[in-house]
Amino acid sequence: MKAVKFLFLLVAFLLVEFASGQEIKCKYCQKPIVGDYIIVDGFKYHRNHFLCANCNKPIEGKYFTKNDKYYHDKCFELLFLPKCAVCNKSINGEYLIDSFGNKIHKHHEAEIDRCDNCNRIISENTTNGGIKYIDGRKICNICYGNRINSIYEYKSALSKVITRLKDYGLHFSESSISLKIVSLSELQRVSESRYSKSVRGFTHTLIKTLGNKKSFEHTIYVLNMIPSKYAESTIAHELMHIWISENIAKKLTPKLEEGSCNYISYIYLKSDYSQDAKDIIKQLKESPDKIYGDGYRKVFERFNGREFSQFLNYLKTNASI
Ligand SMILES: [Zn+2]
Ligand SMILES: [Zn+2]
Ligand SMILES: [Zn+2]
Ligand SMILES: [Zn+2]
Ligand SMILES: [Zn+2]
Repeated sequence: MKAVKFLFLLVAFLLVEFASGQEIKCKYCQKPIVGDYIIVDGFKYHRNHFLCANCNKPIEGKYFTKNDKYYHDKCFELLFLPKCAVCNKSINGEYLIDSFGNKIHKHHEAEIDRCDNCNRIISENTTNGGIKYIDGRKICNICYGNRINSIYEYKSALSKVITRLKDYGLHFSESSISLKIVSLSELQRVSESRYSKSVRGFTHTLIKTLGNKKSFEHTIYVLNMIPSKYAESTIAHELMHIWISENIAKKLTPKLEEGSCNYISYIYLKSDYSQDAKDIIKQLKESPDKIYGDGYRKVFERFNGREFSQFLNYLKTNASI
């Protein structure tokens, strides 16, 4: 609002005869003015020629000015004040904003939901509404529209991620991994307290020792009915847990392990320019979680832009970050 001046119209009256004998011209039509006129910023206008830059209709009473243009107060509101994503009205005061730039009046806070998947404010304007899953998740219609749910779709996501991670020297044998698609309640049950909203998955590993030969059986649990990019990102995270359990003998601190797994989600998504990929990277970056968020930021700061092998070597020689 700083650039905005708030003024009232000055209406000057003039006798029909010109007081000074000098002709007064309207700034808008350049024709002589006879009778009442308006003075704004030193310029004179016919009363019906002082026009709003938005609707082009004459302004009477109060007006706003911005960048040397004049507006009705209503037109100004419409053009320059942020719109509330819930009630559609202009916001002239306190508001809340989600990480996608959606703004809402502060007083809607208690009545709105955020998507449990992408964190957008759920409303008709922002997400075309949303739905509630049986397991309690509130999901916006953008995420709902992009959801995958068949084991076939999840399995092809797994193969896709495994193929991509090969380029980074991370190798997985698909036959040792079984994939389970679960509801939020099932995921919380299998992962016990280790469930994190920003991860959406969990991996259970069974190590069998036969003589001095170790073999691994992994089960990856992934949340059902999430968009494919979120499923891929989750699978990338879980695959890194598998890589760590197969390649690192010592125990890593949760911060280093979860941070590294989130870093692999980032590595997997970084050259993907879809909106979902950008949103997930943003979530990784901005997560307030002390383990997942802080861990990711630590790993990212230390290894992003460096040889990937330096990251893997660090995991082999260090237990914490
Ligand atoms: Zn005029
Ligand atoms: Zn107007
Ligand atoms: Zn509102
Ligand atoms: Zn969503
Ligand atoms: Zn994890």
